[in-house]
Amino acid sequence: MPKNNKHHAALLASPGMGHLIPIVGLGKRMATHHDFHVTIFFIASDHGLTTSLLKSPTVENLDIVPLPLVDISALVGPNTQLVEKLIIIVRESLPSLRSLIAAMKYRPSALIVDLFGADAFDIAEEFGMLKYVFNTANAWCLAAILHSSRLGNKFILEHHIKGQKPLEIPGCKSLSFEDTPESLRNIDRSGQLEFHGFKMTNSHGILINTWEDLESSTIEALRDNNHLRGLVKVPIYPIGPLVGQDGNQALDKQVKQWLDKQPIESVIYVSFGSGSTLSATQMTELAWGLEQSQQKFIWVVRPPSNNAVGTYFTIGKDDVDGTPDYLPQGFFTRTKEIGLVIPMWAPQVQILSHPSVGGFLSHCGWNSTLESIMNGVPMIAWPLYAEQKMNAAMLTEDFEIAVRPKVSTTEEIVGREVIGNMVITIMADKEGKAMRDRVKELKNRAEKALCKGGSSFNFLSQVAKDCMHHLLA
Ligand code: UDP
Repeated sequence: MPKNNKHHAALLASPGMGHLIPIVGLGKRMATHHDFHVTIFFIASDHGLTTSLLKSPTVENLDIVPLPLVDISALVGPNTQLVEKLIIIVRESLPSLRSLIAAMKYRPSALIVDLFGADAFDIAEEFGMLKYVFNTANAWCLAAILHSSRLGNKFILEHHIKGQKPLEIPGCKSLSFEDTPESLRNIDRSGQLEFHGFKMTNSHGILINTWEDLESSTIEALRDNNHLRGLVKVPIYPIGPLVGQDGNQALDKQVKQWLDKQPIESVIYVSFGSGSTLSATQMTELAWGLEQSQQKFIWVVRPPSNNAVGTYFTIGKDDVDGTPDYLPQGFFTRTKEIGLVIPMWAPQVQILSHPSVGGFLSHCGWNSTLESIMNGVPMIAWPLYAEQKMNAAMLTEDFEIAVRPKVSTTEEIVGREVIGNMVITIMADKEGKAMRDRVKELKNRAEKALCKGGSSFNFLSQVAKDCMHHLLA
């Protein structure tokens, strides 16, 4: 395959908007600030939005290429965990990825994959490309995955799972049993993620969607010989925060008009990420909690499900005022002065960046968390799955920019009164005001890291230099 004098990079996003959005953010940044030509390969999921979001990218030197859908039904069972499914889908997509890379006019100098894509490194090796992992979660989560892979299943099982003792991660915040992601907590876990953890360390570097001074001690531990360095082995590049831009998602006229009419920082935005759902009982409590708080809200609503990772019901018959049957009767009428309900999907970054928005009730996906920080918006932390409980712990205990219910949001129902009080705390109390000041300070620090000469900018420049050297070698 011929070489070009411009450094090309190929990026691979595993299924799910939570992976695709930061990969697109990284690709755009590499193309606009670091003179790369970028090709993003993404594994299409059946989320109709994936394609619409990616249509006609406006960035020069950035191509976005879908890989065909794969059928994994014969390879998974009813108990296959989400993490394993993602790894299997990526594995089954590798032949298409290989053919597309083989057919490229110029050889990319690097392949960058997300946490579930390390199997694609065989292709990078075959074509002589540098191999990088882009960890779209934070540094603490990476440290937990890598450290638990070192400890092995037996220790984790006895000490952390049966003993419910915190997982001590050298040089990092320790991880309570309650906040442990299910993939590390499950007794029958297959060790897939840990195996991937090992593969990650067989790369030329790990990029993380965080920035140096947000997680300085964790990043130091990842680089320190006395802590996790022996395990990590490769350079760590905190190059974030890279957040979605919502390029093609305009604010709906009605939503914009409504937001424009509201006082500054008076609206709480409520959303649980790209695919999560609440149970019917929990949705009812949330509806009453919002109503009783009498604070302004925008709520992205999905039909309820007992499976937090989202199985969609067919929507039932709506109430006379349009209220769907899974919300309390007459909810729309009673809240028409204070709230807006948006079904299924909203342009989140556009909403969070509107001056009238002053709070975010979130499931604490890392992208949502970074988007909230980058818009100076304090949060109500309502974690549901994956590493979201870790994110919630960081937000409340370390950064102090969020409140969190005392009860577990996955094991118990959070009552309407608790919800109403948390909303009032964030939107109308001095505690919420102090959080808003702190999150704005974090936003300033993040912006500095991204500016030319800032830490995140410099780390990505380092990756660009390595790719250039590799190209010329
Ligand atoms: N998102 C959006 N509109 C929605 C729901 C989600 O734009 O109605 C975007 C959100 O801005 C974020 C991503 O989808 O960039 C969700 O990623 P996150 O890591 O927060 O959670 P996940 O969906 O992976 O659980």
